[in-house]
Amino acid sequence: MKYIDEYRDADLTRKLLADLQKSVTRPWNLMEVCGGQTHSIIRSGLDRMLPSQINLIHGPGCPVCVTPLELVDKAIALAALPEVIFSSYGDMLRVPGSARDLFAVKAAGGDVRIVYSPLDALQIAKDNPAKTVIFFAIGFETTAPANAMAVLQAKAQGLSNFAVLVSHVTVPAAITALMDSPDVQVDGFLAAGHVCTVMGFWEYEPLAEKYHIPIVVTGFEPVDILHGILECVQELETGRFEVRNAYARSVTHDGNQPAQAVIRRVFEMTDRAWRGIGVIPMSGYRLREEFAPFDAEQRFPQVQSIQTHESPLCISGLVLQGRKKPDECPAFGKQCTPQTPLGATMVSSEGACAAYYRYGRYSFPSPEGEGSGVRSDA
Ligand code: SF4
Repeated sequence: MKYIDEYRDADLTRKLLADLQKSVTRPWNLMEVCGGQTHSIIRSGLDRMLPSQINLIHGPGCPVCVTPLELVDKAIALAALPEVIFSSYGDMLRVPGSARDLFAVKAAGGDVRIVYSPLDALQIAKDNPAKTVIFFAIGFETTAPANAMAVLQAKAQGLSNFAVLVSHVTVPAAITALMDSPDVQVDGFLAAGHVCTVMGFWEYEPLAEKYHIPIVVTGFEPVDILHGILECVQELETGRFEVRNAYARSVTHDGNQPAQAVIRRVFEMTDRAWRGIGVIPMSGYRLREEFAPFDAEQRFPQVQSIQTHESPLCISGLVLQGRKKPDECPAFGKQCTPQTPLGATMVSSEGACAAYYRYGRYSFPSPEGEGSGVRSDA
């Protein structure tokens, strides 16, 4: 398939690995920001092919994983209201709240619907004028333009029964928070190609300069990722700290200007809580005052004060900050599996714990107590 097969080419992969081997002389910790990149790395086994000096750290770029528990619990409370149709991307339905998930609400009779776009939710609102249709507007800058557009269309069409539960976060703020933490272990970043397709990479230039870190815009196929790693290592080995674009077939310096304008029209920056990490100042979007009638939290004030309860076993905050790998979590594959998830990182299609489980990075003592076994379905 064009634009896919050539970026999974074995000969090109071998050449890039050989170039990397020649370039690297000392240990480097590189963080891939996006969960989609993490899944590609683990699925292809790239991390095990790299020169031993290169350690890949999985970053916080899984939108479902970083949606705070409080918002998940609010979504669950809203979805249980008889006057509400709650719509969301499918990933969010299995994310554990304090007591249950959205699937449990649906099983108990709540009207919870999986949609593939916020525009699907708009259509549901048109078809059900007696109900309030809420869309769970989560994600990074990638999903923000479509969510903003849905709000603009709802306003233009007078759809007063449409609302959004917003939990938007942004990548530059996450990089800032990680680099400001006292025990930071990251030498360079692979920035998320799809986020930069929307936003460009101009926002990263002050970060590279301030923290003296290379940031390389990187795609999602194995060759893309190796290309990004090679550029990052070459910068580090030669003492340069620039922003480079290793995903030029999709990303430009300035990004998609109309999409950025739609985001700015509907949203403004605000402090946001990140699940497992805490509040990061000015790290996300909220609706501008003009669009308050479409804000589900303001429409249903009964969900404002929700008490949350996170599993004490889950260390997904450390996983999302790159301080632990999923298989270092004591609950991984035991109390926590995709069937019995304790944290969002085990159920999201971009979650690091889900990647380790799905692709067999899972060992356990054999019944005989000798060595370790591996999941039979790996
Ligand atoms: S394996 Fe489960 S409990 Fe452990 S960090 Fe991942 S989601 Fe949390």
